[in-house]
This record gives sequence, C-alpha cells and structure tokens, in this order.
Amino acid sequence: MSKEKSRSHSTPHRQSQGGKDFRKRVQRSKSQTDAPAVQPASRPRAGNPSAKPGIMLKAGREKSLQRRHPWIFSGAVECIDGAPASGDTLPVRDAAGNFLAWAAYNADSQITARVWSWHEKDVIDKAFFRNRIANALAARRALGLLPSPAGGGGAGGEGARLVHGESDGLPGLIVDQYGDVLVMQLGSAGPEHWRDTFADILQEQCAPVCIYERSDSDGRELEGLPKRCGVVRGTLPEKVEVTENGLRFAVDVAEGQKTGYYLDQRDNRALTGTLAQDKDVLNCFCYTGGFSLYALRGGAKSVLSIDASEGALELAKRNVELNGLNASKAEWQCADVFGALRKLRDQNRKFDLIVLDPPKFAPTAAFAEKASRAYKDINLLGFKLLRPGGLLFTYSCSGGISDDLFQKIIAGAALDAGVDAQIVKKLHAAADHPVLLSFPEGAYLKGLVLRVSS
Ligand code: SAH
Repeated sequence: MSKEKSRSHSTPHRQSQGGKDFRKRVQRSKSQTDAPAVQPASRPRAGNPSAKPGIMLKAGREKSLQRRHPWIFSGAVECIDGAPASGDTLPVRDAAGNFLAWAAYNADSQITARVWSWHEKDVIDKAFFRNRIANALAARRALGLLPSPAGGGGAGGEGARLVHGESDGLPGLIVDQYGDVLVMQLGSAGPEHWRDTFADILQEQCAPVCIYERSDSDGRELEGLPKRCGVVRGTLPEKVEVTENGLRFAVDVAEGQKTGYYLDQRDNRALTGTLAQDKDVLNCFCYTGGFSLYALRGGAKSVLSIDASEGALELAKRNVELNGLNASKAEWQCADVFGALRKLRDQNRKFDLIVLDPPKFAPTAAFAEKASRAYKDINLLGFKLLRPGGLLFTYSCSGGISDDLFQKIIAGAALDAGVDAQIVKKLHAAADHPVLLSFPEGAYLKGLVLRVSS
C-alpha cells in the first residue's frame, strides 16, 4: 500500500477506542497500539481562483476512480479551481478535462474528496440522497434484515445498520437502528455538510422517536472536524434497547462505544451460542456482554468475561438480568486483557471456548506491525488457555490488517503456543454491513474459528 494510502482513515469500522470507558479513557498498556497520530493534510495546489470550483487530477492518477474506488487522495490532485469550502460538491476531472465524478471536498483531509456519484447528469441534492438512503433500506429489506418499522411506542425492537458508508454509496455516513431510535455518525466533510438533509430524510423514511448523533469517532480529527454528539430529532428515550435473536441488550446510545452497540458481530455471536453447551467459556473484550449472553443462553457451564470498561461491565450485568439468565454462571473481570490472560495462564485456568474480540489495534496499514504483535500476544495466550479440542473465536476489526496477514499472525501464535489448530470457519460482519466490491476497505471485520487438536 502506498504511503498515502497507509495514512487513510475514516472507513466505516469500529473506533479504535481501545479501553475507552463510558466516561473516560482507560490507560492502555504498553503492549497496545496508540491512537493514530494526527497528520497535517498536505493541501493540493490552488488552481485558478476565479474558475468554476472543481478538482483536477494529475495525469495518470484517474485509474483508481475509473475502478470506482470512492476516495481521492491529496497526492493525486493537480489543483483545486475556484474557492470551494469543505463539504461542497465538486466535479472531479482527469488531466485532459474529462469528467470522472461528483465528490465531496474536504480541504483539511489527506482524502481530498469522496465520491457521491459517477454520473455527470446527477444533481447532488436532497432528492439524490433520498434515493440513496431508500436504496440502502431496500437492500436490507430484500435480505430480510430491516427491523420492523420504527415509530412504534417507545424504545425496544430489533436493530440493524441501515447505512454503511461507502458501501451504500454514502461515504462517511453511518446509521444504526436500535428499535425506535436511530444513531447517525458523520465521519467526513460531505455528510457533515448534508447533516440536516440526512436527518430530514431519515425522519421521513424511518419515523424514529429519536435521531441521535454520535459524530465522535477518532477519524473526525483526521478530517479536521470537531466531535459532536446529541439529539438531532425527537427525544431520546430514557432506556434504549435492542433485541437480537431473541436476546435483549440495553444500549447506551449517548455514552457507549461507537453508536452504542456492535451490530456487526450479530451472526458470529449467534454461532458462539450454538457451540457453548456445557463449556467453560472465556470472553475477552466483552463490552456489554454480547458473546457472554449468547453463551449463557446456549447452556455454557461457566462464562468468564473481561473488559477494561467498568461502564460496559455494569451494562453487561444488567443485560444478564434483563434476559433472566443464570447470573451465578457468569464471572466478570474489569481488567486489561493482556495482563488478565497472563494471570489466567499462571493460575493454570483452562477453557473450552475462548472469544477474542479486541478493538481496532491497526486503524491503517501504518500500524500493522505494532498491531500484529498485540494480536499475536493475545492469541498465543488464548491457545495456551484452551483445553485439547477447544475452540478459539478470534477477530480483528482493523482496516490495516488484511485477511492473509491475520491468518499468518494466528498461525505464528499457534506455533509459539505449541498447539496444532485447524480453521473450521471464517467469519465476517453481518450482511447489514455490506462490502462494495470497489471498496475492499469495507471488509474490516475478519474472524477465524479455530479448533485445537485433542
Ligand atoms: N465483543 C463485543 C465488542 C467488543 S468492542 C460485543 O460483541 O459487543 C472492544 C471492547 O474492548 C470494548 O468494550 C473496550 O472497552 C474493550 N477493551 C479495549 N482495550 C482493552 C484492554 N486492553 N483490556 C480489556 N478490554 C479492552
């Protein structure tokens, strides 16, 4: 990956919040990666200030756009004509002046523009976005993924990601539904500019009781945007809940991580539940108890869950109660997983099923090396804690770690742990987090289910 690309950011994955508590950041151990350093954007050269605003690419730099990758890096830009403001929609042209795309400009980002449309005849206005959002909803409806219409009484109901940024043709826009509440996250200057329009369209099309904004992802800093959170439409119910495969989860929309809950792991949590019967389960980076609740419902003998966030663990315990699950089988530890796994090893504790679902250690490829060490460390310890025949569910949500690299890291961890293991399944984000073929960065979540030999 080019140096430029390695600094890319703002893909629609999980935040690299690490041990972020609901109220404060938890100090991270040295073994983890730090948040990305903010890189000052190298601004493209100004063109003719009195010409119509537009982006002109350097000769030969139109190829990635021709392959319909929606990002235009500053290094590919020859000049910017006119005096556009961040968020403005500009035509992008190749060095010969041929039209390539309409894109949202950001003067303060390494990604100078993100593409809204490839068609010159398109007008980027409310009707355009109404159509894009309707398409995103229709795609989920067609797959049976759209929760029953919001707008009923109060919170509760099922959840789904309604809009998944670039992969839904809406770079920088994330919309998650939890029952009657929508949470909107704006990650770049384009959606920032159209904030009210998006809120109006979502209100029209989904009729939620509340649209809450969680524009506080780390990526916004790289885009030169301030963090902003709060109610955009309606009123936030006191309690927000999401029902997932029959399990109820309280969601802290205002203070929780990301948009409050990790919808992407829905199918993978369900799979864990089906394999948990009579097992001693260890769930690392448990957040509000997702995998733990499925394991308890699936008949696990015991479930030890570890997270560095006290707020998340409080909610996890409430979620066990909410579902009438047997709390005596659940043990909770507020700790740094890196240290906690070593302690468990020293105590000679053993488990039949282990889940490792850490935060994003490598937001971009530039962090891959450091992140690889962290992934190897926890996976090596995970392998050592498994009984013969045990299962390891291991994940990476790092955009900077490819499927191949992740598999290599896990292979190295097994080797160093002295175990033989087989991949029995490869896992990804749920289908309401689609991946546009021309935007492979959308495939951020990768998981492996491994069985160690008995
Ligand atoms: N598996 C969860 C999502 C995990 S998100 C689910 O299904 O909902 C990652 C979690 O890792 C967050 O809850 C965060 O608080 C926690 N975390 C980050 N760094 C940590 C560390 N070093 N030790 C323990 N927990 C950590």
